[in-house]
Amino acid sequence: MNDDLRALIRTIPDFPKPGIQFRDITTLLLDAAGLAACVERMVAATEGPVDLVAGIEARGFLFAAALAVPLRAGVLLIRKDGKLPGATIAEDYALEYGSDRIAIHADACAPGARVLLVDDLIATGGTARAAVRLLRKAGAAVRQAQFLVDLPELGGAERLRAEGLAVSALVAFESH
Ligand code: AMP
Repeated sequence: MNDDLRALIRTIPDFPKPGIQFRDITTLLLDAAGLAACVERMVAATEGPVDLVAGIEARGFLFAAALAVPLRAGVLLIRKDGKLPGATIAEDYALEYGSDRIAIHADACAPGARVLLVDDLIATGGTARAAVRLLRKAGAAVRQAQFLVDLPELGGAERLRAEGLAVSALVAFESH
């Protein structure tokens, strides 16, 4: 399934460090037909109406905007802490070494807003789970998440499902 899209994703070994197989989606973005098919399939996989599509910085922004237009939804930016100009709420999450923090504008979503979470890739799910906590803290109803790529061995999609989300990805790479 989606072998056409899988073929457009380039694997760069040992980036950003030895042992990581980096799944590079820039090659898919460069392909007009592939990009259109990717967006159409993500839109088709969306369940029910959504008010906002929340994209995670930075590659998630591309898909959030592309999905929001046909879904007739707005775009909510989930940014690295310190980038948004207005009052924010933030959430910390653990990295392999240390931690990171993401933020949204405190007034970005009305309580009960139906939010679709989007990113290019889910690995351990640490980033996406922090995004879900943040959106829920803001009062959003986050029931689904979409990714172009899933790395199932790292368990992120399963962890998100355990938190009550419907999770879909167009392409899975078994070995990371
Ligand atoms: P995680 O929080 O572990 O699910 O990591 C997700 C984020 O890290 C996504 O925003 C991806 O862009 C990036 N990422 C993690 N692993 C890879 C990989 N093997 N190839 C490309 N991007 C990755």
